[in-house]
Amino acid sequence: MTALKAIDKTTINIEKIRADFPILSRKVNGKPLIYFDNGATAQKPQQVIDRIDHYYSYENANIHRGVHTLSRDITIGYENARAAIQKHLNAANPCEIIFTKGTTDAINLVASSFSKRFISKGDEIIVSVMEHHSNILPWQQVCEEKEAVLKVIPINDAGELVLDEYNKLLNEKTKIIAIAHVSNTLGTINPIKEIISAAHARNIPVLVDGAQAVPHLKVDVQELDCDFYCFSGHKVFGPTGIGVLYGKEKWLNQIPPYQVGGGTIKTVSFEKTEYADIPLKFEAGTPDIAGTLGLATAIDYINEIGLDAITTYEHELLVYATEKLQKLQGVKILGTAKEKAGVLSFIVEGIHPFDIGTILDQMGIAVRTGHHCTQPLVAYYRVPGTVRVSFAFYNTFEEINVFIKGLEKAIIMLK
Ligand code: PLP
Repeated sequence: MTALKAIDKTTINIEKIRADFPILSRKVNGKPLIYFDNGATAQKPQQVIDRIDHYYSYENANIHRGVHTLSRDITIGYENARAAIQKHLNAANPCEIIFTKGTTDAINLVASSFSKRFISKGDEIIVSVMEHHSNILPWQQVCEEKEAVLKVIPINDAGELVLDEYNKLLNEKTKIIAIAHVSNTLGTINPIKEIISAAHARNIPVLVDGAQAVPHLKVDVQELDCDFYCFSGHKVFGPTGIGVLYGKEKWLNQIPPYQVGGGTIKTVSFEKTEYADIPLKFEAGTPDIAGTLGLATAIDYINEIGLDAITTYEHELLVYATEKLQKLQGVKILGTAKEKAGVLSFIVEGIHPFDIGTILDQMGIAVRTGHHCTQPLVAYYRVPGTVRVSFAFYNTFEEINVFIKGLEKAIIMLK
């Protein structure tokens, strides 16, 4: 892990931030909640909850359809949300932002539409060992349907991609690379810029699964030069059921719609249908309007804190927790990459992760246990699963102290 950077502690006003999240003041099993399961889903600030409430209370209407005031106003609100995401990711054009149900939905969209146009028998698709199932299964299905071949980038024991092996996998049959920006199980931040530039040297497009990156890091899709990038609203302090697919205009224009129906067309007749331009071509049916508004509010919220401050603060939490955890006997951390986001996965010798998670829950501490939807990765480490702690900017050093004490107790009880 990279050394701790100099921290300006004034950049995160932790009390003020925590006061924005109502759930953080509740008790679980009689104890103050310590929420360390941010990788699964993040909590929502009052601002996001209020935005959704306001939409349903005072603004509810359908978009892109009505001439009446409510419909026109909310169409503007919805398109403003798109523009906010465009700005946040530094996409070149708002039409490159597609609203989806989440990361899984976005990857399925690309896998399905891209493969219809560009994948044939014998072609190759590259993923890595550390991918979430959501970035494996859609490609596996494409391979089955098209008789294509899935190739897998290996990792080293620290949980870093082996780039030499990646470079060896690239060839004229490779049609797309789908890779996580940050591993949800290990926290590894992958060198995606390098991965993309090696792929582009052979004109191969790259999809980046940014589900675990957007909540923690500044992402600039033009700087990365990725072809597709996706993330989920609920992991960036926004609502569930909404997510984003960024796609370069040149690709989105070339691939067919994923789902079709209302909203995706210019004209329909029984003889011929002409589809709408992007982004509407990919947004069939009434979308999650409240979700887009809530997501844009969540993005505003994190920008107000500042992503540099968030990244730095979370890194400090990670270093602090790692040092404490390393001192516990029998604890082994999986994922010791040089570049890591705020995720700590570990196992305790002779104790099942599930048992640790259950006892910590009795203490009000929410952690994740299991394979974290990365079965090939946990199989690589030959473990049944891990205990995963994943941080957000509202977590504190004191919470880490309580967690470490709780874990010590759990280990004594279970040994
Ligand atoms: N990719 C990664 C790296 C994830 O961590 C997750 C969720 O944990 C997903 C994809 C799937 O996200 P969602 O369930 O929001 O579609």
